[in-house]
Amino acid sequence: MIVEMQAGARQDQVDAVVARARSLSCDVQLNVGTNKVVVAILGPHTGQINTDLFAVLPAVASVTRIMRPFKLASREFRQDATTVRIGDLVIGGKAVVIMAGPCSIESHEQLLATAKHVRACGATILRGGAFKPRTSPFSFQGLGVDGIEVASQVREELGIPIVSEITEPHHLEDVADRVDLLQIGARNMQNYALLRAVGESKRPCILKRGLASTVTEWLQAADYILSAGNPNVILCERGIRTYETSTRFTLDISSVAVVKRDTHLPVIVDPSHAAGHFQLVPTLARAAVAAGADGLLIEVHPDPINALSDGLQSLTFSDFASLMQELKAIAGAIGREI
Ligand code: PEP
Ligand code: MN
Repeated sequence: MIVEMQAGARQDQVDAVVARARSLSCDVQLNVGTNKVVVAILGPHTGQINTDLFAVLPAVASVTRIMRPFKLASREFRQDATTVRIGDLVIGGKAVVIMAGPCSIESHEQLLATAKHVRACGATILRGGAFKPRTSPFSFQGLGVDGIEVASQVREELGIPIVSEITEPHHLEDVADRVDLLQIGARNMQNYALLRAVGESKRPCILKRGLASTVTEWLQAADYILSAGNPNVILCERGIRTYETSTRFTLDISSVAVVKRDTHLPVIVDPSHAAGHFQLVPTLARAAVAAGADGLLIEVHPDPINALSDGLQSLTFSDFASLMQELKAIAGAIGREI
């Protein structure tokens, strides 16, 4: 249920709404906008609560039920687009933010060379996995904490922010302040202990869409992070399982439009894991920018043939440089920039 306060409502009037919600055993989340406050009343019993119990309180402008299964991610709760800040970078603003780097961190040399190249081409965030959730236990599992150490050295050397995946709540201690943006991977989209832990950490995070999840399930997963008090959620479409086998996953470009329509959260696209093949990545990347994605997450490797993971879908340095030129033109054509 959403309680919209009148413009200029006083703090004690907002407090009265919160107190009544709590007296009804509900949780509360506030969206304090520039000229009005919106109070989300949350919990399993809100459907049974008479909206008049809130409508009668002073300075309440309206009370509406959120009919959608996702609440805090919805446009009903927050009309203005959310922006996520990482230092000076804004995700969800005019700029399309390019995050690029290897699937897995393999060595200091590999990560540093990739970071220098992608940054020179216009990427502003370096990706690199250390805790890898691999489908097979026999695949390379990532360098773990040693990989995070490499990432943090390169971050210090170049001053470039890092995005890296965590797969378990205790990894929050391992990444500590050494990673700027946390990634929750497709396989963990419904790992609720991880979602809650990242929510409580309040740290900027990317929530990838589960590989067989509907948009609604994805947004309900986002609600777990938001409801734990973390507003810094970036959604990432990375392709879903369909009957089609000519790509690794089917990139659901329409989800970008749906998410933009129904939520206030920024959304980025990972064309690499969707395509599964380097030849297809540029097409999907261009389509994503044209569709209005707020950023891209792209795998780039200095030597894809010898990559320890996802070499087939990783772009070479020169392919990435060419793609960036094309993406800049597309962004400009739709009133955005890279
Ligand atoms: C990744 O980004 O390396 C990754 C494992 O992605 P996903 O969770 O989308 O499969
Ligand atoms: Mn990968």
